[in-house]
Amino acid sequence: MAAKTPCKKCSALCCRNIALPLDKPKSRGDYDDIRWFLTHYNVSVFVEKGDWYINFKTLCRHLNRKTFRCEIYANRPNICRRYKTSKCELTSDTYDYDLHFTNDRQMQEYIKVRFDNMKTPIKRRNRGKNKK
Ligand code: SF4
Ligand code: SF4
Repeated sequence: MAAKTPCKKCSALCCRNIALPLDKPKSRGDYDDIRWFLTHYNVSVFVEKGDWYINFKTLCRHLNRKTFRCEIYANRPNICRRYKTSKCELTSDTYDYDLHFTNDRQMQEYIKVRFDNMKTPIKRRNRGKNKK
């Protein structure tokens, strides 16, 4: 018996984006490059099981917009064939990202916390005390 999938009730979310692996950022400059990606509309970045990905929200030209079926199903690319519909999590509320950035402001905050917060507190606290 075929595994049950929610595809029949889905508008083909899997055919509406491209996710590509990114090198894991190390330096502040690497994170700032990712911030630049995120300044663009329809781009997000997520981390899953420690691996970084960039995601472009863009509709496949072969998706029928009325039926949400693939118009080149017999000739669809291998990446579409390999996608395990029975394990698809795109329609579930429990999609488990380690991190998910949908715009550059979020990344800017993340960079601040990651690279600046460790350095600032002691000096600032001392300065505050001296003023009293
Ligand atoms: S594989 Fe997932 S996203 Fe694609 S049509 Fe099926 S349920 Fe929807
Ligand atoms: S080729 Fe077909 S299965 Fe692949 S993304 Fe496009 S519509 Fe979806």
